[in-house]
Amino acid sequence: QKDKLPKPDWLRIKLSTDGNYSEIKDMMRSKTLHSVCEEARCPNIYECWSNRTATFMILGDICTRACRFCAVKTGLPTELDLQEPERVAEAAEQMGLRHCVITSVARDDLSDGGAQIFAGSIKAIRERMPFCRVEVLIPDFLGNADALKIVMDAKPDILNHNIETVERLSDRVRARAKYKRSLELLKRAKEMNPKIPTKSSIMLGVGETYEEVLQAMDDLRAVDCNILTLGQYLQPTPNHLAIERYVHPDEFAKLKEEGLKRGFRHVESGPLVRSSYHAHEQTDSAEEA
Ligand code: SF4
Ligand code: SF4
Repeated sequence: QKDKLPKPDWLRIKLSTDGNYSEIKDMMRSKTLHSVCEEARCPNIYECWSNRTATFMILGDICTRACRFCAVKTGLPTELDLQEPERVAEAAEQMGLRHCVITSVARDDLSDGGAQIFAGSIKAIRERMPFCRVEVLIPDFLGNADALKIVMDAKPDILNHNIETVERLSDRVRARAKYKRSLELLKRAKEMNPKIPTKSSIMLGVGETYEEVLQAMDDLRAVDCNILTLGQYLQPTPNHLAIERYVHPDEFAKLKEEGLKRGFRHVESGPLVRSSYHAHEQTDSAEEA
C-alpha cells in the first residue's frame, strides 16, 4: 500500500529541543497567532527558528478550500481580524526575526481574498523592523488582479506563490486552484513590479514524472519566476493524498542543477525542503543576481 511505504533514512531526522523553542511557542499562543512551522509540523522548525526565520499563517486557521495534501481545517471562516498585522509584527519583533514569511489560508469568502491584511502585515513589520525581510506566500486570490496589486504595492521582499505540483496532477492535488491561474499570478506580479523576486514551489512524490517536473520548471521560467523550492511530500494523516514515492536525494540534486541551468537564481531542492526553508539565503542570492 502506498501510504505504508517505509520511510527512508534521509527523512529520519533528529529533533533537538531547546528553551528558545518553547518560549516562542508560548508567545505564539499568547498572541493568538498561528505559525505554519508548528501547525504543519514542519521538520525544519528548530533550524529555522534558530536562524530567525518563521512562517506566520494569517487570516485564521480555517480554509475555504480543501487541497488533498494539506492538513489545514476546511470550513467557512468567520474571523477577519484587522489587528492581526500589528500582532504579527510584534511577534516578529519578539522573535528577533531576520526573515519573516507570511502566508494564509485561502479566504475565498472575502472580496479581496485577505490582500489588505497581507499588505498591512508587510507595512507593520517594516515599521518595527526595517531590517527584517518580508516574504509573502499568497493564495491565488481567485485570479483577482486588484487583490494582487494591493500586496505588490506594499513591496514585499519576495512574492511567493506555489504551483505545488505539475500540470497534469494539479486538479487532483489542489482542487479549486488552477495551474494556469497560478502561472498567470506570477506573471502579473512581475509585470506590476519587476524588481520584486518571485518564487514558487513544487512538492515531489505525488505521482509526477521527472519530465513533468522539468516542464513545470520551464513553465515557471516562462513567467520569469526567480526562486524555486522542491521538497518531498509527506502525508499529514492517512486520510490525505497518498505518497506515491520517496524521491532520492540524488534526484533532488539533479533537479537543482536542472533548475539552475534554466535560469532560476536560487533553487532549494531536497527531501526536507519546504517553501520557506533557508528563505533568508534565498533573498540574499535573489538580490545579488
Ligand atoms: Fe517554518 Fe518554513 Fe522553516 Fe518549516 S521551513 S520551520 S514552515 S519557516
Ligand atoms: Fe491548505 Fe492552502 Fe489548500 Fe487551504 S488553499 S487547503 S491552506 S494548501
